[in-house]
Amino acid sequence: MRHLLKELNVSWDQAYHLLVATPHSPYLRRHRMSFLIGRVQLVSFIFAVLIPLWSAIDYVTLPWPEWAVLTAMRAVSGAIFLALAWPWNIEPTTRTAFFMLFVMMLGPPVFYLASQPLLSGVELGTWGSVAVEFYALLPFIALAGLCVFPLTVVEMLLFGVPFLVLTAYGASLSDNFTLETYIGNLWLALLILAVSLFASVSQLRYMIALVSRSSIDPLTGAYTRRSGAEIIDMQYRVAIRQDAAFTIIFFDLDKFKSINDTYGHDVGDQTLTMFTENLQSNLRGSDVIVRWGGEEFLAVLPNTNLSGARLVVGRILDNWLGERPDGAPLTASIGIAERKTDQLEDWIDLVELADQRMYTAKKSGRARAVLRDDEIMTGDLEVAAALAE
Ligand code: GH3
Ligand code: MG
Ligand code: MG
Repeated sequence: MRHLLKELNVSWDQAYHLLVATPHSPYLRRHRMSFLIGRVQLVSFIFAVLIPLWSAIDYVTLPWPEWAVLTAMRAVSGAIFLALAWPWNIEPTTRTAFFMLFVMMLGPPVFYLASQPLLSGVELGTWGSVAVEFYALLPFIALAGLCVFPLTVVEMLLFGVPFLVLTAYGASLSDNFTLETYIGNLWLALLILAVSLFASVSQLRYMIALVSRSSIDPLTGAYTRRSGAEIIDMQYRVAIRQDAAFTIIFFDLDKFKSINDTYGHDVGDQTLTMFTENLQSNLRGSDVIVRWGGEEFLAVLPNTNLSGARLVVGRILDNWLGERPDGAPLTASIGIAERKTDQLEDWIDLVELADQRMYTAKKSGRARAVLRDDEIMTGDLEVAAALAE
């Protein structure tokens, strides 16, 4: 297994991300879900157009009343596909995306299963037989269609295997059922599923690589400002909906330029990386760090009220976030803003307020945190005194 992963140039962690969706970040999840919904809508639109059009072929190849019943069925499924393709204002949640994918996938096999009893025993010409043969292919088309979605291995199997069973069941209903064709069909469906699985997982792999490349700052591993803004926007809306607390902590490293000037840019870079790692270890797994500017960072703490934020910042002020190259503690000026106590409806205002408070902290001597009403928290005061100009 290890050898295979190495051959494929995939690490254990990446393999885990390809296997299941649990380790995916909310940012990746949101992008993937909105991509999935877009794909479902595109494919559904194609179905919504093609399926009713096919009635013309039914009319020519099938006798009355079979073609009429099929046309009615086509009208219904066309309407369902049109509803799926409709540009509603959809929130890209996992549940919505998979519900839409499920409904779309259900279309072809259900159509097939419903058409089987209708068409069995009907006298057909050559072209009629060809059309009916085509219906038998519908479940295979659905399975093959899975390949256009970036899915994990487990998602793919959860979707694929029931359709495989459905295909097998449908084939057993057929007029000219023989064990040979049955096994042949099952084998074909399995092969299609395997190829789709490979295609889906490859897409997922590239999606993960692209999303992380565009959203993660390569130096520190923090989110970039752009992706960070998207994450804050998304989480802030959840906080408003749930009337939950939401804290932003703004950090600006103290006297950072002098590290660059004295020890060089590379040492400055290492210091930034160390800062982010230490900050991360002071936060919860659900908290997010954003590199807002050169040496300015945001910690985003959903479901954290002011007293929770005081605890986090108190811990940071006591130990600080690593050491400067000369051995002094690596300090920052810190501004804190919280949605409910500061009564702000827009996250941009919340960041702005945290920024202003950071500036107040900077002006009043660095190595400290400012909360609402200019409440100031300091850790070791000697550190602050050493930094004061
Ligand atoms: P203050 O306590 O007032 O914040 O002082 P400061 O030196 O931290 O403030 P200032 O904003 O003047 O300097 C920030 C410096 O951060 C300037 C810039 O060269 C440096 N910087 C920004 N991004 C990077 C980076 O990616 N790597 C390194 N090494 N330095 C960076
Ligand atoms: Mg700065
Ligand atoms: Mg600074």
